[in-house]
Amino acid sequence: MIVTKRLYDDGHIKEFDATVVACVPCEKGFLLELDQTAFFPNGGGQLADEGTIDGVAVKNVNEEQGRILHLVDSSFVAGESVHGVIDWDLRFGRMQNHTGEHIVCGVAHSLFGYENTGFHMGTFGITADLSGPLTEEQVRKIEYLANKAVFDNVEVTCFYPDENELETIEYRSKLDLTEDVRLVRIDSYDLCACCAPHVRRTGEVGIIKILSHQSHRGGTRLLLKCGFEALEDYCGRCASISAISASLCAKENEVAEAVEHLKAEKAKLDYQIEQMNKEKTLKYIKRFKGTDSNVCVFTDDLDADGLRETVNAGKLLCNGIVGVFVHAEDGYKYCLGSNMLNLSAFAKQFNSALCGRGGGKPEMIQGSVKASKEEILKFLSAEEV
Ligand SMILES: [Zn+2]
Repeated sequence: MIVTKRLYDDGHIKEFDATVVACVPCEKGFLLELDQTAFFPNGGGQLADEGTIDGVAVKNVNEEQGRILHLVDSSFVAGESVHGVIDWDLRFGRMQNHTGEHIVCGVAHSLFGYENTGFHMGTFGITADLSGPLTEEQVRKIEYLANKAVFDNVEVTCFYPDENELETIEYRSKLDLTEDVRLVRIDSYDLCACCAPHVRRTGEVGIIKILSHQSHRGGTRLLLKCGFEALEDYCGRCASISAISASLCAKENEVAEAVEHLKAEKAKLDYQIEQMNKEKTLKYIKRFKGTDSNVCVFTDDLDADGLRETVNAGKLLCNGIVGVFVHAEDGYKYCLGSNMLNLSAFAKQFNSALCGRGGGKPEMIQGSVKASKEEILKFLSAEEV
C-alpha cells in the first residue's frame, strides 16, 4: 500500500514542498516521514537519492510498508512545512543509466525473448542479467537498436493500471506483483514494472554503451554505461589509448598491432635469453667433470633455475659436494648438492659456521651465507673451478 505520495513519478522534480508527518529518533539520527517526497528510496537494485530537506543532508532513504523514511541528523516537528532539494546531477546520471537499462532489456526481450533476471547499479556502471546466451554479434545488435531508440527520442511514461487492467497487459517484471504495480512504457521498445524515476524522453539518456558481456548462470551478464557516465568512460579510454599511442610511437588506431609487435619482439628476446642461460649453465656443469673432491663455482651469471640445474647435473659428475655460489648483497646465495652425503644434516653445520640460513633435501640444500669466498672454500675443503 502506498502511504507517502511519490513525486518522483515525474523524474524531473528537483525541488518540492511537503509537510512533516512524523519524525522519530533512531540509532543513526532521525527518521523523517513526509506527506509527499521526490526522494527515491533504496530498492530494485538502485541506491536512494541524495540531497537536503530544509538544508539538512538526507543520509539515506528507505521504504517501510508504503512509508518513505528519510534518515537525517536533525529533528523536525510534525505539521511543519519543509522544502526538499534533490542532488540533481547524481539523480540525472542514475536516470540516464536506469532508463538505458530498460531500453537494452526491452530490445533483448523483443529480439530474443529473454527476461531480465538481475539488475544492479553501482559506481562501475550497470549490470543487467539476461536469461539466455548472446553472441558478440547479437550484443552489438541490441546496442545498435538501443541507441536507435535514443535517437528516436520517444516518450517514457509511467502509469498504475488496476488489477483487471493489469491482467490484460503483457509486460516485463522480475517479481510477481499484484498490488500498486507501476508500469513504465518506452514507446514500442519496452513495457516493464518498475518503481524508480526515469527520464521523460529517450533522447535524455544519451549514448548507451555495452562495455562487456559474459556467460552468467546459463544466461548473459551485460555491463553497460549510459549518458554522462558513458561520456566519462569514453574520455578515460581515449586518454588511455592516447598515452599508449605516444609511448609506442604508433597511431591511435594502430595501437593493438603495435602491442602485438611488441609482444612478438619480447617473445623473441625471451627465447634468446633462455638459450643464453642454458649455454651458461652447461658451461658451469662442464667444470665439474672428473673432479673427486668438494668443488665450488662462484658466479654472477646464474639465475635460480640455472643454479639448481647446474648443481643437479654437477653432482652426477663428482663424488664430493658440488657448490654453486651467486654473489648477493652481503655474501652469497648458495646451492649445494651431493650424491654421496646427506646434506640435510650438514646444512646446520654449514649455516652455523658461515652465518647462513637455509636447508632442503638430503641431496640438495639452498640458502644464503654471510661469508667470504675464502671462508667458504676453507670450510668445505673445496677447490674453486
Ligand atoms: Zn525503471
